[in-house]
Amino acid sequence: FCNMSIEGGARAGYVNPDETTYEWLEGTDYFQEHPEKFEELKPYWESIRSDDDAEYDDVVEIDASELDPVVTWGTTPGQGIGIDDPIPEPESLADDKVDTARRAQEHMRVEPGETMEGYDIDVAFLGSCTNARLPDLRRAARIVKGREVADDVRAFVVPGSQRVQRAAEEEGLKDIFEEAGFEWRNAGCSMCLGMNEDQLEGDEACASSSNRNFVGRQGSKDGRTVLMNPRMVAAAAITGEVSDVRDLEEVALA
Ligand code: SF4
Repeated sequence: FCNMSIEGGARAGYVNPDETTYEWLEGTDYFQEHPEKFEELKPYWESIRSDDDAEYDDVVEIDASELDPVVTWGTTPGQGIGIDDPIPEPESLADDKVDTARRAQEHMRVEPGETMEGYDIDVAFLGSCTNARLPDLRRAARIVKGREVADDVRAFVVPGSQRVQRAAEEEGLKDIFEEAGFEWRNAGCSMCLGMNEDQLEGDEACASSSNRNFVGRQGSKDGRTVLMNPRMVAAAAITGEVSDVRDLEEVALA
């Protein structure tokens, strides 16, 4: 969330710490080994939280439970829509967004009025530090289990950290993905930014759980990146196209 606030025009993103944050922090390896550090730092974190009576220039409330899965149609993270929504006419956007939208639609080869559902993909990338945490991999595994990656799709999983990788392997997630036809890789940035050999080739289209879809971001200047959540990447890998994951039944993990 903090990472992506930059794409909304912010200089920084910040989340006030609460009990959920503290509970999570306290359970991390570092603070399990150094509980005295946690006690030392907690008052400091409390001291920099926003005041309860702070005044804000704007307040936006979003009920995430009511959001449809969001996918991008363009070449910036902000060019996104719900899976059932039509791709916008560039002229319907704010004046300073019209040209970028036109260029983005040309690059992505999409037309206003279409939805992104059914957009063919060549690559499914389930990774990045922002969207390949252990709960992300578990959720995606519930979609993948017992199914197979589409024949013409190159699919791979890159855990968000070595810690996530170890935990995912211990609880059998790696096996579920490999049985379905995903490659299981070591933790790293990988195709989030076209690292090493993990790059799109030519005009390949990628269903990607990474966080940015700028032209060339995944290694090829003609590559096409469609950002979506990890469960949606799992669904796209199985069907070979951008799909509504809500149409695929989840399978319980052992
Ligand atoms: S390039 Fe690496 S560190 Fe940066 S957002 Fe992607 S996965 Fe995270």
